[in-house]
Amino acid sequence: MKHGEENSTAGEISREQGTVIGGERILFLGAHCDDIEIGCGGTAARLARSRAIAFAIAADCGPNRKDEARTAAAQLGLAESAGNLFFGFIPDNRLEERKDVLQNWLKELVARFTPDTVFVHRGDDTHPDHEALYKVALRVFVHQAIYLYPIPKLAAQATAFQANCYVDISAFIRAKLALCACHASQAGKGIYLDPEQIKATACNAHVTGFGKTGGYAEAFRIHVTRAAAAPPPGTSPTRAAAPEGQGGRPPSGPAPGDSVPTAAPTVVPEAKQGRGADKAALRAALNGRSHGEILEIGAEIEVGLSPAMDKAAAIAALLDWASTPERWEALRRAIGGAA
Ligand SMILES: [Zn+2]
Repeated sequence: MKHGEENSTAGEISREQGTVIGGERILFLGAHCDDIEIGCGGTAARLARSRAIAFAIAADCGPNRKDEARTAAAQLGLAESAGNLFFGFIPDNRLEERKDVLQNWLKELVARFTPDTVFVHRGDDTHPDHEALYKVALRVFVHQAIYLYPIPKLAAQATAFQANCYVDISAFIRAKLALCACHASQAGKGIYLDPEQIKATACNAHVTGFGKTGGYAEAFRIHVTRAAAAPPPGTSPTRAAAPEGQGGRPPSGPAPGDSVPTAAPTVVPEAKQGRGADKAALRAALNGRSHGEILEIGAEIEVGLSPAMDKAAAIAALLDWASTPERWEALRRAIGGAA
């Protein structure tokens, strides 16, 4: 197997190498400690070269598995102390029944990491924790581009995954295997951490996505693209495939299953591109206020903020509320008035 020079691919993902993943700040979400590495470890390793990335693991899988996840994340320079590795506290296998808590945790992540692109489990994953995380993520990440990733299953549990986006990880397959190898406690518990399975899955994705052997890829489904996650200036054209209708954009473009290299590009509307920066400015202004002032701002514009909410959650709630131009303006005015 011929691999490209790793340094030659640092930076953006070219048209030949698959979908251009938009966004400067990319959050990888997994229900359990090894999900991100299995589903998108190669893409994370690749994007870590040119973007700010973070890993967030929703379920508490115990101290041993957390340590394994820390070791893996450290390979990409991620750590809790650096603000780009996050652990949730809901016990393993309980995400479905604690969706309200999960939602608050994800809102906190929005406030703390301010992602503009999110990777999360596919919606029809048969694991209840994976499915719960997907559902809640869709409710919370309303301003972010969302990419869905699959976890390989045994044939009996598998349902077809309709990918519409492929990222070439040929130069990062060793990085992916090294990330997965950190989860030693899970080795042999399922098919998904077997190195041969990981390579075979990536090999198949490369054949499907790029129509040729000799490389490795990861397959995703673009759930929705958003203006805030447009690729930075000077990069390759956006080749995002059809969004699925979230975020007010009707489904359009290629049929499910089309690989992105042959799909028509979807152009992100120019007019909305300022919103991401605008939001960052508004968030910065809110961050500069005290907890009490944030609650006052909420009261002024009649957003029901509970005093029990911490500052980050209250800011996230205000920014969530400001989903229309009128509300946006009202929030902006209220911030000015609370100076
Ligand atoms: Zn999992």
